[in-house]
Amino acid sequence: MYGDAARAFSQMRDAARRDGVNIKLTDSYRSYSAQVDVARRKGIYGVRQPNGKLGLAARPGTSNHGLGRAVDVNLGASPGASQWLRANAARFGFKTIPREPWHWEFTR
Ligand SMILES: [Zn+2]
Repeated sequence: MYGDAARAFSQMRDAARRDGVNIKLTDSYRSYSAQVDVARRKGIYGVRQPNGKLGLAARPGTSNHGLGRAVDVNLGASPGASQWLRANAARFGFKTIPREPWHWEFTR
């Protein structure tokens, strides 16, 4: 992640740990080619896919992962993280987006 986002994320993760919540990541910075791959596998965000589901990936070149501003949290491996983040992440400048409760991006 880029400097400010990385610092804010470290502070947030430390604060969560003090509350007994261990935040584990599945993804953070993503290169352009990695985003192309994700878009191919998950579809473009909000666009209906052949399987009937809405796509989840940002258009390559526009992802907050590619800008070093986003993390994906492994909610299954981080008990309490979802609730903790919803209650506390805004204090550290992070927000989530609709339909992706695991995705948190730095907005300052
Ligand atoms: Zn994400």
